[in-house]
Amino acid sequence: MSLSFCVVGAGFSGAVIARHLAEQGYKVTLVDERSHIGGNCHTERDAETGIMVHRYGPHIFHTSDQRVWDYVRRFGTFHPYINRVKAISQGSVYSLPVNLLTINQFFRTVMGPKEAREFIAGKADKSIVDPQSFEEQALSMIGPELYHAFFHGYTRKQWGLDPKELPASILKRLPLRFNYDDNYFNHTYQGMPEEGYTSIIQNILNVDGIEIRTSCSFEEIDEKFSHVFYTGPIDRYFKFELGRLGYRTLDFERFTVDGDYQGTAVINYCDEQVPFTRISEHKHFAPWEQNKFSKTVCFREYSRLSEKKDVPYYPIRQVNEKRMLNSYIELAQQQKGISFLGRLGTYRYLDMDVTINEALMACDQIDSALKTSPSN
Ligand code: FAD
Ligand code: UDP
Repeated sequence: MSLSFCVVGAGFSGAVIARHLAEQGYKVTLVDERSHIGGNCHTERDAETGIMVHRYGPHIFHTSDQRVWDYVRRFGTFHPYINRVKAISQGSVYSLPVNLLTINQFFRTVMGPKEAREFIAGKADKSIVDPQSFEEQALSMIGPELYHAFFHGYTRKQWGLDPKELPASILKRLPLRFNYDDNYFNHTYQGMPEEGYTSIIQNILNVDGIEIRTSCSFEEIDEKFSHVFYTGPIDRYFKFELGRLGYRTLDFERFTVDGDYQGTAVINYCDEQVPFTRISEHKHFAPWEQNKFSKTVCFREYSRLSEKKDVPYYPIRQVNEKRMLNSYIELAQQQKGISFLGRLGTYRYLDMDVTINEALMACDQIDSALKTSPSN
């Protein structure tokens, strides 16, 4: 009997796996309950303005992984794109991540790199040697003033938790620079796909042997498969029998104006009194075509605790949730014929490049497993 596979989820994780299996000559059924492919990276033309919008929030491709960078560029052209975020705090506009411009503007100084480094070191709390929480990480890295101006309120809005209750790792994602480099990321390769992410994923899936079923949930399927690659939420697969893993969801408030609204792609609103976290103006994600449009479309982004029917965005991963996750992983390991992958299948925050790298590594493992499979 020939092997047949089901891949659940048409985001980057599912697409990379489905293509690989099809290229090896297997029949693949790819299902996604949404009406479109692309997962959370889905992009589409806004019906009113014609601008390419990132439906589930702004996505910038950044990686230092040569294999991943070579892989994605097989499926579309990437334009150079550097994420330069602005932040509004207490009535002033600053540059993020915290860099020399931010420091000099905030403290009304004209320091050079060495002086600024010493100045910030003087602000940092030296009693914190091994920061565990977000707050400890911030206080030991940048001191109280910058922490309160840029991170305390924003983080409370974004996570619905006090930064004392969040892990240091969330802040460690962001650089701190003592020069005027305002690139949000440190990665070697950074870009934006010319035709959007959905086009890249469409091209990944453009190979014989993949049947794509959108608007179809895994739960609706009654065929049997040799193996299932499941990139949906791990707790949902087990019908939440051990409880529900917590996520933050996002609400996007769309609005359009004539011309240019904010002059840049992303502005963060760091004050807690402002109910949204940021505004994204999507034409600025595609600078090569931004002058084509007379109207501009923006999204205010609000974060809240995810409920049953909401899209799960950010895994919260508090201590009790990590415990629950481990119990789900134990359950998963007892299952035969199914693998859990991707950001929802593993309940981790994964950037796109990490997602793709993990899917490519899973393909390597699939090859070794198939070589030793008795059905082959
Ligand atoms: P997903 O894209 O979530 O795909 C999973 C798919 O599975 C979904 O389409 C879902 O509908 C489907 N599904 C789930 N359960 C079922 C089921 N039972 N039956 C059928 N279908 C099902 N990364 C970056 O590198 N750069 C960025 O700038 C960036 N920005 C981000 C901004 C936001 C707001 C968020 C939340 C994430 C961001 N990311 C970014 C991360 C990026 O979104 C992920 O890396 C990527 O989406 C992971 O792909 P995936 O295939 O694992 O999951
Ligand atoms: N953060 C903040 N203020 C900002 C930007 C980020 O407090 O202006 C915090 C927030 O807790 C966020 C974390 O830093 O979750 C990581 O920032 P990043 O920009 O990576 O967030 P994401 O892209 O995941 O929304």
